[in-house]
Amino acid sequence: MTETPIIPPGSVLGILGGGQLGRMFCMSARRMGYRTLVWTGGLEAPAIVVADEAIDLPFDSAEALEQFVSKAAVATVEFENIPRETMEAVAAKIALHPSPNAVAICQHREREKTFLKQHGIPCAPFAVVASADELAKAVAEIGTPAVLKTAAFGYDGKGQLKLTGDEDLADVWANFGTDRAVLEAFIHFERELSVMVARSADGSVVAYDPAENRHRHHILDVSIVPARVSPAVAAEAKVIACQVADALDYRGIMGVEFFHLPDGSLLVNEMAPRPHNSGHHTLDACATSQFEQQVRVTCGLSAGSPKLLSPVVMLNLLGDMWPDEQVPPDWSPLFADGSAFLHLYGKRRAVGRRKMGHANFLADDVEAALKRAEILKAELLRGGRS
Ligand code: AMP
Repeated sequence: MTETPIIPPGSVLGILGGGQLGRMFCMSARRMGYRTLVWTGGLEAPAIVVADEAIDLPFDSAEALEQFVSKAAVATVEFENIPRETMEAVAAKIALHPSPNAVAICQHREREKTFLKQHGIPCAPFAVVASADELAKAVAEIGTPAVLKTAAFGYDGKGQLKLTGDEDLADVWANFGTDRAVLEAFIHFERELSVMVARSADGSVVAYDPAENRHRHHILDVSIVPARVSPAVAAEAKVIACQVADALDYRGIMGVEFFHLPDGSLLVNEMAPRPHNSGHHTLDACATSQFEQQVRVTCGLSAGSPKLLSPVVMLNLLGDMWPDEQVPPDWSPLFADGSAFLHLYGKRRAVGRRKMGHANFLADDVEAALKRAEILKAELLRGGRS
């Protein structure tokens, strides 16, 4: 077996993408003495101000590619919609973790679902749809209610349509605006869970305790950790998440999202080949944050302990909590709570329900943390534009 080189502190870590996940990665990397190089893709990039260096050019720029691979010792990704060609071009020159293939599977629902099915990993019944006829066949096979999802570029409920069975399917397809989609059975789940896992170069995997996730307008609202499920369900979710990472021959940090059904069974909804919003509690409540974990595994170091040190509730701070796009909320109620920790992403405009930051509430039990988070949320929403 060839030794995996260790990338030591002081080296330059390249990040594809410059969003808040890249920003928090840079903060962890810099704390550990690494230097960071962010390639933004030309998108608005909250990571730039905390990176040692940034390349603020699109992902198809040959000049940006040349700069990136000549300066970075190793690279990772912070969002999955990086063009595959860019990832391949980077990986041809320097190590990129996770691999372009693993990211490509997770960035496309058809490939993702097909992968899960091929590996015997439980997921909702689905059919691939590429025409109005195929949609009609898929509805006949899967039944209704069902959810039609675009194959590519879907997240936070975008590119999704619930079908009840009353629709004109030719119309639905004509207006859906994609040439490939997946039709999934609508799952009457009891709750949604997610598990963060980090898989190292030697194939060892560590799993964090499952988070219980609640959404607001299809966007993550709160993550409750530990999830309020039996130890057996929590253990099974971790086992399945590790199976997914193994089957992908994954190297890096990833999030696996689940539906938990009333009969206790679990179905994988989707995977994120990067840190995940439902892992933000790890910044204040776990021995190793998901971002430090990404640094460690990318650099060939062994993974840190995923141990949960305190029950925690993570509250997402969305743009609609801002009184005005450029006026932040009054944070004094949050600062008055000595066990609540604010993380803001430095975005200048709180457009719509954009993710502006999050807050982690620690307590001796999740119910107490949830109560404090809900009180603050109500207060912020009252003062906001929701
Ligand atoms: P996704 O972008 O696939 O994570 O979907 C966003 C949210 O829509 C999920 O977190 C669920 O709350 C809901 N959802 C997605 N797929 C289904 C499904 N097959 N059945 C029921 N709800 C779903």
